[in-house]
Amino acid sequence: RSSAISVGPLLTKLKHDCATPLPVLRHMADAMAADMRSGLAIDGGSDLKMILSYVDSLPTGNEKGLFYALDLGGTNFRVLRVQLGGKEEGVIATESEQVSIPQDLMFGTSEELFNFIASGLGKFAQREGGKFSMQSGRKREIGFTFSFPVRQTSIDSGILIKWTKGFAVSGTAGRDVVACLNEAMERQGLEMQVSALVNDAVGTLAGARYWDDDVMVAVILGTGTNACYIERMDAIPKLQSHVSSSGRTIINTEWGAFSKGLPLTVFDRDMDAATINPGEQIFEKTISGMYLGEIVRRVLLKMAEEGALFGDSSPEKLSTPFVLRTPDVCAMQQDDSEDLKVVGSILHDLASVESNVSARKIVVEVCDTIVKRGGRLAGAGIVGILQKMEEDSKGLIFGKRTVVAMDGGLYEHYPQYRRYLQDAVTELLGSELSKNVVIEHTKDGSGIGAALLAAANSMYG
Ligand code: ADP
Repeated sequence: RSSAISVGPLLTKLKHDCATPLPVLRHMADAMAADMRSGLAIDGGSDLKMILSYVDSLPTGNEKGLFYALDLGGTNFRVLRVQLGGKEEGVIATESEQVSIPQDLMFGTSEELFNFIASGLGKFAQREGGKFSMQSGRKREIGFTFSFPVRQTSIDSGILIKWTKGFAVSGTAGRDVVACLNEAMERQGLEMQVSALVNDAVGTLAGARYWDDDVMVAVILGTGTNACYIERMDAIPKLQSHVSSSGRTIINTEWGAFSKGLPLTVFDRDMDAATINPGEQIFEKTISGMYLGEIVRRVLLKMAEEGALFGDSSPEKLSTPFVLRTPDVCAMQQDDSEDLKVVGSILHDLASVESNVSARKIVVEVCDTIVKRGGRLAGAGIVGILQKMEEDSKGLIFGKRTVVAMDGGLYEHYPQYRRYLQDAVTELLGSELSKNVVIEHTKDGSGIGAALLAAANSMYG
């Protein structure tokens, strides 16, 4: 039997349901801008939390001295030191190290985990030398990037709401994570102190801003997704007492929770229902790396079961959630061989199915459909943020060069995704305005960004 024929209508319907023509993008961008506004008006006012970062002073380039950064966001933590030489000398040197967190500590107590981190940091600090030097009598200061949900209470404190990403550490939820780390360092007699607690998107914005004054927005597209931007204090009604000397601050949108106007399919709804957080993080589940492969898998499984996409070979393995990951989808889309042999071998290796060339072509079209929707919706989200900023400060965004700093493995490694994102931005803004909007990859800016924020918020002024 010819698979291409029976699968045709399923593919047509998928493309139709995932379509992101200009009016859909425009509607989504408008909804993003409106949701940002309601989230700034009152806490709980919209899907978007619009969290205050308490970052009031952005890096200027004048920062001087030795600063540390600690990044805890997954199964590894990263430590970094940077020697800053002010306007003249800039970044004099950086050094970093990665330490993997033993599995049992992810299920242990808060004290055990923070003791382990403090000890890793201590060992790293002991090896300081060469171009790195500390003014005597000073404590070493740390910018702490902590990529779990935190209710920030000041630039150097924040309460852990809950652990995610497989962590189940007891005794941290409800506590100030900075105090947890400071106490662990004290227990070990380590003369170091956290001066800034930062979200990774906020760190990326600060890091990118050090090199380029036109950076106004930062977006993370990796396993998950988030965005932050520079906001005017007087455009934040929910903020009552907090004052900023600069009149501006960084707002962490937590845009993964956005949900309006997205073209969703039965595959998205079924996947969402099977997640640990159904009904939440809908935008993230449509555009980020953790989910794109899984959506493709669900489509292919249906095509195999109902349309015999892989002929007689059983798609049984394809019914395991997350067997197809986004990097696999990406690899299949890079296959430019005539008989799509890379696609064939990936399908064979991961799903144990045999495929002919016409089936492989359909598989690539499915990948492209899901990735195109993801990239274009991410682009519309960016335009939504820029639009909101422009509405409040006419000409300050579209009337001059404005940079959006991008980071994360999905953006970094998926060329088609990147192109679809840029296409959507250009379509939405038109060729004139979009000339002023520069979307730029800034690799690993968040580490240096966190160290810069420690410098900007140093206890030594
Ligand atoms: P994280 O977001 O987990 O902190 P990264 O920013 O490095 O870390 O992003 C990792 C994610 O990027 C992976 O989960 C995957 O979804 C995506 N990714 C990594 N490599 C590729 C690739 N080659 N092609 C497409 N996506 C990739």
